[in-house]
Amino acid sequence: MKTASKALSAMTMVKEALEKAHKYQEDYHIFNFINDVDAIKKAAEIDEKIKNDETVGRLAGVPYALKDNFLSPEGGTTASAHILEEFTSPVTSTVVAKLEAEGAIMIGRTNLDAFAHGSSTENSYYGPTKNSKDLERVAGGSSGGSAVAVALDIVPFATGSDTGGSIRQPAAFNGVYGLKPTYGALSRYGVVAMGSSTDCMGFFTRDPEDLDLLMEITAGQDPKDLTTLPDFYGQNHEFDDPIKKIGIIRDFDNDAVDSEVRAALARKVEELRAAGHEIVELDMPALKYALAAYYIIVPAEVASNLSRHDGIRYAFRSADSNTLSELYENTRNEGFMPENKRRIMIGNFVLSSGFYDAYYLKAAKARTLIIDEYNKAFEKCDLILAPVSPNPAFKLGEKVNDPVAMYLEDVMSVPLNLAGLPGLAIPVGETKDGLSLGLQLVGPRRSDQSIIRFAKQMCCDQPHEDHHADLSGVSTVEGGEE
Ligand code: GLN
Repeated sequence: MKTASKALSAMTMVKEALEKAHKYQEDYHIFNFINDVDAIKKAAEIDEKIKNDETVGRLAGVPYALKDNFLSPEGGTTASAHILEEFTSPVTSTVVAKLEAEGAIMIGRTNLDAFAHGSSTENSYYGPTKNSKDLERVAGGSSGGSAVAVALDIVPFATGSDTGGSIRQPAAFNGVYGLKPTYGALSRYGVVAMGSSTDCMGFFTRDPEDLDLLMEITAGQDPKDLTTLPDFYGQNHEFDDPIKKIGIIRDFDNDAVDSEVRAALARKVEELRAAGHEIVELDMPALKYALAAYYIIVPAEVASNLSRHDGIRYAFRSADSNTLSELYENTRNEGFMPENKRRIMIGNFVLSSGFYDAYYLKAAKARTLIIDEYNKAFEKCDLILAPVSPNPAFKLGEKVNDPVAMYLEDVMSVPLNLAGLPGLAIPVGETKDGLSLGLQLVGPRRSDQSIIRFAKQMCCDQPHEDHHADLSGVSTVEGGEE
């Protein structure tokens, strides 16, 4: 990642990023807010320090995009939800504070599915972000804006949150790297909570090497988030060196998976075999419970986390209410998106007395089976290579009115969230129609560093693809037509 120096000013880098952000905004709808004024001010401060030979951080002047569910006072934090539209945060998330302490400069807040509920960015109150390869297709979600900002080379990195795939799936849909770290690696403090037992903060980059630096800077214990792990990046999971055995999940190899996704996996497996790796076929039957368990556990946590939005403490309050209960009802009715409401209802249902044992408790047991199954798998192999999602980017509007079809998008991404494992989406080429294809590398807890290094090795050992989008002619594209 290029950082500011006497030869390359922070101002040049930031201005270039802002220019690109504005240029692509109309077609792709990447940002909820572009941080023009403040970013320029910060760039000037860094350049001044460099001029005076003062020490600057490891990300000096590096422009980055922030998923709009990370709190910081700049530009408010909407989580792409109407209910937070006017909200200005009094706090700064730990991840943002750590990035900015090293000199990184936020140039914009990126679009997401409201409250990160979704797999396409279509559940955003502000409308969808478009795919970087095809304007008629979804960017993926929920961190669609961040993935596209990196894919279009506006910024070298962007933040994301991954509760059930929201970093890896949009990364795969846009041909960039997307890291969902081990649960507890990065602080959740100051990020709008979705499902607290699976929420993970992470990053999108075009270069796997950059992930190493970003993890070094941001991972670690935070007194403000008691689930954070101490000394995280200093204590990598020990592998027999070098990583040799790669697992593939037989249960994911079926007709529900797009043929080009299966072919991409088969190609990578052959490349790894040719490079001397042993391929271990895994039977993981408990993974078939993962999607159902996820869509019980996470809505239960969503219902609880979203109960704080009552029209009293936060931004939006419905105008025409005569009583307190009317105020709650109208505010929540007008402020949440349909998908938010669906999850609140499902969550309260599965937690309600009489249904708790049948749903929540059963899902919690399935979660334990899934954790056990991964533990057993990692006795047989070092890392697992799997698809991120059953298909490449789908068409805008194709699934948004069919919640079950949208949930099925997550069938391969949610299992490792339930188990708290790290997963890295890696770009592996394109379909015959030019859509991005991605796979994920999954490892044991605390193996994040090894996964990143393995990805680096995979990307550099093999013919390197140019993941930068070809942007020529973008300005001539109108209204989603090719
Ligand atoms: N698509 C998943 C969902 O809608 C994941 C979302 C996320 O990771 N934030 O729950």
